[in-house]
Amino acid sequence: MWNKSINLLNEMITKGDKIALIGHFNPDGDSVGSTTGFYNFLQQFSKDSTIIYPSGVPQFLKFLLPEQNVLEYPQDNEKIVNCINDSDLIVCLDFNAFSRTENLKHLLAESKAKKVLIDHHINPDINSFNLVFSDTEVSSTCELLYKILTSMPQIGGDADKLSFATGQSLYVGMMTDTNNYSNSVFPFTLEMASQLLSKGVDKDAIQNKVFGAYSVDRMRLMGYLLYENMVYLPEYNAAFMTLSLEDQKRFNYQKGDNEGFVNLALSIKGVTISAFFTESEEFIRVSLRSKGDISVNIFSGAFFNGGGHKNAAGGKLFIPFNEVPDYFKNAIKEFKKDN
Ligand code: 5GP
Ligand code: MN
Repeated sequence: MWNKSINLLNEMITKGDKIALIGHFNPDGDSVGSTTGFYNFLQQFSKDSTIIYPSGVPQFLKFLLPEQNVLEYPQDNEKIVNCINDSDLIVCLDFNAFSRTENLKHLLAESKAKKVLIDHHINPDINSFNLVFSDTEVSSTCELLYKILTSMPQIGGDADKLSFATGQSLYVGMMTDTNNYSNSVFPFTLEMASQLLSKGVDKDAIQNKVFGAYSVDRMRLMGYLLYENMVYLPEYNAAFMTLSLEDQKRFNYQKGDNEGFVNLALSIKGVTISAFFTESEEFIRVSLRSKGDISVNIFSGAFFNGGGHKNAAGGKLFIPFNEVPDYFKNAIKEFKKDN
């Protein structure tokens, strides 16, 4: 099965003339790592491709982007429409359904290109794709992609044959999706890390770029959220924070500044569910994290119009922002009755 899929992917790449690599809305380290990792792999074998992001890439991940062939919605909308319409191969990475690309979902659904999915979320929408690589027993899409790329005939299982750029991208996605090795770490995750370090990926430089290059505003925002904003609900082993548009202005909020904040409350003894709500003009972004056996993807599906993984999920709310605290308290009360 695996060999057959690898051969098929290789054939699609060989035949592909115009290849588009698609990331998800609000691209995170795994999204940027997997798209740029695949891009770099194709470049190594003299295949051009174009990376498309349905929303902007946060500053701290920009070091992974190639100098050209990257399109971001909305500013590159016209080029994105042309690129998707002209593509004969579309590879979707780190999301399980076109809806996770928001404004690009119709373009993808209507495209006549061959479509490949490479992803680690449950319930992949397999009917939308010609070829699916889906595995939830990995840390990240980057880990799955590492397995795929090293299995390709050009690499033949020898990780040393991957380019430095590919290795660096895949390392970043794995490192960020495990929240720096604190969750979803499988035995092979560490093997992959070990192989990438052996081939020269600079973990300290990456660590510094990803987790050691925050703005002062972001640090002050974190301090404010922890000190004044966080609501602790010991009766539900839960805590949540809310980031309003007003507070975003106050702390000169830049895209991606809230990355990781949802994890903070999980460091409190006894807290097993953490939620983070970010106001935007269109809707409220919901981020959920849990410890142990609590499935926040089910919580998200039931109350927050979303989904994700067992211990890391997200969604959206369409209510006035000041109603979020009451909405969350009610939701967790209901959820805890059955879980
Ligand atoms: P984050 O909190 O980092 O934005 O998202 C955590 C995980 O939740 C993501 O990796 C993704 O699997 C999932 N997720 C986030 N937002 C949504 C959403 O709106 N819909 C669905 N189905 N999953 C989401
Ligand atoms: Mn991921």
